[in-house]
Amino acid sequence: MKLDEFATECDAWLSAHAEHKPGRGRFHWGDGDDGVVEIWSEHDPVADARRLSSSRAWRRQRFDAGYGWIDGPPDLGGRGLTHSHARAYAQLEARYDLPPQDWFKLGPVIGPILMAHGSEALQERYVPGLHRGDLVACELFSEPGAGSDLASATCSAVADGDHWVLDGQKVWTSDAHIADIGLVLARTDRDLSRNRGLSTFLIDMHDPAVDVRPLRQMTGGSAFNEVFITDLRVPDSHRVGAVNGGWAVAVHTLMFERQLVAGGHGRGGVGIANGDRLTELVRHFGRAEDPLVRQHLATVIGDFRVAGYLNQRRDLAADALIMAKLSLAGNLTAAAGLVAEVLGPRLAADTGEWGTFAWTRFLLGAPGNHIAVGTDETIKNIIGERILGLPREPRP
Ligand SMILES: Cc1cc2nc3c(=O)[nH]c(=O)nc-3n(C[C@H](O)[C@H](O)[C@H](O)COP(=O)(O)OP(=O)(O)OC[C@H]3O[C@@H](n4cnc5c(N)ncnc54)[C@H](O)[C@@H]3O)c2cc1C
Repeated sequence: MKLDEFATECDAWLSAHAEHKPGRGRFHWGDGDDGVVEIWSEHDPVADARRLSSSRAWRRQRFDAGYGWIDGPPDLGGRGLTHSHARAYAQLEARYDLPPQDWFKLGPVIGPILMAHGSEALQERYVPGLHRGDLVACELFSEPGAGSDLASATCSAVADGDHWVLDGQKVWTSDAHIADIGLVLARTDRDLSRNRGLSTFLIDMHDPAVDVRPLRQMTGGSAFNEVFITDLRVPDSHRVGAVNGGWAVAVHTLMFERQLVAGGHGRGGVGIANGDRLTELVRHFGRAEDPLVRQHLATVIGDFRVAGYLNQRRDLAADALIMAKLSLAGNLTAAAGLVAEVLGPRLAADTGEWGTFAWTRFLLGAPGNHIAVGTDETIKNIIGERILGLPREPRP
């Protein structure tokens, strides 16, 4: 199907089922919810459940109409079109006022991982549901003693007939409190060194053997959790990839995840990248003629633009992707600095004024981007060693 014909069809469907954003998506100071600048969604569990059901309803309607998995195979409910078709739809959809979709951010990570490493049975059972919004996924890789050094993960999986029994603790698991399924990295062979003795499994997050405890963040919210797994029985059919082949799955997962982060999955990540909101902030608070503020604003907008171009290359090279993730983290921090410079004390106390205190969630959320999906330091090591060919870091 030609792209322009497809775009016309999508626009007709979207306008019949959703409202255009005010001003056809252009930002005007004072319009809408000023909380959208937060980087990580952090609500209480009751609000989460309410918002999740409206987000889910939109996803189901979209999938059933043939727009939920545009570049997916038709036998699994996809439309069988190209990635360009999917991108064209996403650009059109961004103009409409829709329920937040950030609950489903790991679908575009776990779905492709199951397609690449999972059995056909796993693909049929879970991938359509990830696209349709029936399932929320999480990723259980990090542990208290294994973050950057993920290969030292100790969560264990012991074979027991046609099952595995999993035990261990995971931490910083985003969305575990609302997730239906989770991808776990576990040690299946203690005699093999580090990354060679690991395997990955898809687990049921509702199993009583999985205890999810929220972690409080400095923003005040709880977007991630610690997860205790005790004698969890997982059928071998839910192993993803080969026994002791989990490292390849984990590395592939991180690649998809970096793609997602670099694309600005967080609400603030995308919401401010085009610069409109920051420009209006500077204007509204009378700083548009201040040469230092203007310079700061221009640098931030320019850097977001460059990161956007880099991000468009992500289909071409994993290297571009890793740099896009690193630059997004730096750009969000630079943007946070600009916001603090303009708002000053308005960030310290909530006076109820629109577009002021709400930015604290942006400022306090920005540092997380320097840590999630690989810290800046470990990413710089990868860039140094893999892209620039510098000598390897000494290993512990
Ligand atoms: C917002 C957010 C969401 C997250 N979501 C998830 C999730 O859903 N699932 C999940 O599994 N994990 C998640 N994480 C965890 C994340 O992957 C880890 O925090 C990250 O990998 C770093 O690990 P760590 O916290 O153990 O820090 P450490 O690895 O202990 O690092 C501590 C410091 O040492 C530095 N360092 C470590 N090794 C080196 C080295 N070789 N060279 C130079 N410096 C080094 C680091 O850069 C860092 O500054 C999330 C984290 C954040 C912030």
